[in-house]
Amino acid sequence: MGNITEHEVKDIRGLLQSDELYNYVLETSVYPRESEPLKELRNITDVHPEAWMGTAPDAGQFIAMLLKLLDAKKTIEIGVFTGYSLLLTALTIPEDGKITAIDLNRESFEIGLPIIKKAKVDHKIDFIESKALSALDQLLNDKENEGSFDYAFVDADKGNYGNYHERLMKLLKVGGVVIYDNTLWGGTVAMSEEEVPEIYKSNRKPILGFNKLLAADPRVQLSHVPLGDGITICRRVY
Ligand code: SAM
Ligand code: CA
Repeated sequence: MGNITEHEVKDIRGLLQSDELYNYVLETSVYPRESEPLKELRNITDVHPEAWMGTAPDAGQFIAMLLKLLDAKKTIEIGVFTGYSLLLTALTIPEDGKITAIDLNRESFEIGLPIIKKAKVDHKIDFIESKALSALDQLLNDKENEGSFDYAFVDADKGNYGNYHERLMKLLKVGGVVIYDNTLWGGTVAMSEEEVPEIYKSNRKPILGFNKLLAADPRVQLSHVPLGDGITICRRVY
């Protein structure tokens, strides 16, 4: 994506009726409960030219709830950036929990790493610098990984979401959950082609196609939640 204006960032981050309502949720329920390491990571990410890529804290709060309800231990993170969702997961899963974290670029991860280390959760993270598709195929080469993961969070290149889904359906255990991020794509999924701002255009069609694919997939129970930029929660049912 190219340069993004402040107005457009707000569009990405909140899908509620107004910015005021979104800020109300953040100020009332999310920020007062956000842990110090996560706040610190969010703040250092704020000065990054691609800060808009960080997971929305309201979605993060919900994900932490889900991780606890699932009692997730063995997890996958596709798309790390500076590590907001990664740190959130690392702080939430138990001491013996593990995260296989995949990103093709280690540079952004290095920005968040000192905070992750300070929070003493780096031992839970196995960072793999790679294209996610080949890393997932590598995981699948080991039969022991099949049906062994409790949870996955997918937040990388939108055009590959369908490919990641196929692999995750093998890696997740039955009852395991995968969350796909940005599935409402700034609200553009419900716009006519002419209305869509330029910066959203390239990924809109992949997201539209992926949403349809998920809705028709009998292997998952599904919930499409308008938090952050839209997240789709899929529970593997067989
Ligand atoms: N979840 C992150 C957070 O909370 O800050 C944000 C992830 S950011 C939206 C997307 C990340 O996906 C980028 O760091 C980018 O390098 C990575 N990425 C893009 N294409 C990828 C691919 N094919 N394989 C692995 N990572 C990829
Ligand atoms: Ca995202």
